[in-house]
Amino acid sequence: MACWIEDREIMEQGAIRGVRGMNDVLPPESLAWVAFEELVHHWASRYGYLPVRTPVVEPTALFVRAIGTATDVVEKEMYAFKDALNGEELTLRPEGTAGVVRAAIEHHLVQGGVQRFYYWGPMFRHERPQKGRFRQFHQVGVEALGTEDPALDAELMVMGARLWEDLGLQEVQLEINSLGDLPERAAYREALVNYFERYYEALDEESRRRLRRNPLRILDSKNPAMRELIEGAPRLLDFLGPASRAHFEAVRQFLEDAGVPYRINPYLVRGLDYYNRTVFEWITPMLGSQGTICAGGRYDGLFAQLGGRPTPAAGFALGVERVLTLWEVSGGSAPEVSVDTYVVHWGEESARTALQVGERLRAAGMSTVVHFGGGSLKSQLRRANSCGAKVAVIIGEEELRAQEATIKPLRGQGTQERVGWEQLEERVWEVLLGKKEQQEREESREREERGAAE
Ligand code: ATP
Ligand code: MG
Repeated sequence: MACWIEDREIMEQGAIRGVRGMNDVLPPESLAWVAFEELVHHWASRYGYLPVRTPVVEPTALFVRAIGTATDVVEKEMYAFKDALNGEELTLRPEGTAGVVRAAIEHHLVQGGVQRFYYWGPMFRHERPQKGRFRQFHQVGVEALGTEDPALDAELMVMGARLWEDLGLQEVQLEINSLGDLPERAAYREALVNYFERYYEALDEESRRRLRRNPLRILDSKNPAMRELIEGAPRLLDFLGPASRAHFEAVRQFLEDAGVPYRINPYLVRGLDYYNRTVFEWITPMLGSQGTICAGGRYDGLFAQLGGRPTPAAGFALGVERVLTLWEVSGGSAPEVSVDTYVVHWGEESARTALQVGERLRAAGMSTVVHFGGGSLKSQLRRANSCGAKVAVIIGEEELRAQEATIKPLRGQGTQERVGWEQLEERVWEVLLGKKEQQEREESREREERGAAE
């Protein structure tokens, strides 16, 4: 055992490792990702959202202008670099909204009504890696462009609720707030600075820094020692004018109509500067301190900020890693993948036939693995079993001469049989379906027995 560990270390010494905070997604976890991607596509389509794919690299100026210079993301989390070949200032995208809005302006996507888009992909932020926080992580984002209707804000939250329900997620709560419009926020900012200046001595170092750069972010402090001070601060909602107030009331009414429970969190401010009016977060107590699984809001000023025609819009993004962890914690699991048939063969000639047989079985709709690497019948069958194959199709020398194959059921009962190549697909299907029907019969009997016992 010790020897094996030493060997491993020797092997790993010279091996290249992945970048810290950037993860490989491997089976069986990757299967859950694929299942989730499919679910997301159906979910977004049900609400009329169309997929968009924007580049992972964008001009640095896009994020600086969209997200704001005084935010954590732009100040210290961006993977920004100069293109060594042409000197362009570029950044690995830290979020998806800026790219979608850039594309919408560039390709004149918003005309004649609301446009609905969604995306899925990796995002990059140079953060301290920890549970639920990575340097490459993934987001599913949803953006609706072209309306200031508060019904949209509510529909985005209803959409989230629907996804959590489809996934069977437990203990997800919605928090909402309104950031008002720019003049309202400016007045609030002044009141907030006055308040915190009075208690300057009690502020922690980060909050002191934020007081000058971005005072609203103090409200988002994760330091428990700051809680009391923050709770005594003026509230943004008290600074809203009639229009912002009416918008917020309407959003609340729609949520109540839809039966989506929510809590108003007067300290909810988002980490990106482009938000106005409605902001929201979906949070869970089940993931420790990285409990925000999804966040979003309205960004009516962003189009103009990026040089486009003023266009009201709203959207949200969910963290795929966090949602999938919560899915697992809630008892979710990816459907097991199994192979229908495994083609076993030996001899040079059989190998060529085996490849053809494999293609024929696949063309007939069966997932099929053809054995590579030789070995005895016994070791190949062992391999077939460990792949979870249901049926082995064996082509040995004798079968080859007779233009036949042996079908060997690998799970449960069933006898081995020889068939001619012309009937192969049909017969394998019968064996597979027979198994399925038998399995279904057994399952329903078990269910009945359980029902009778209860
Ligand atoms: P946090 O407060 O956790 O840093 P944020 O406000 O920076 O989140 P957003 O920019 O709103 O997050 O991104 C939306 C979602 O993306 C978050 O709610 C979270 O689920 C996920 N997310 C953000 N940053 C990371 C990260 N570094 N690693 C994993 N997931 C992340
Ligand atoms: Mg963050």
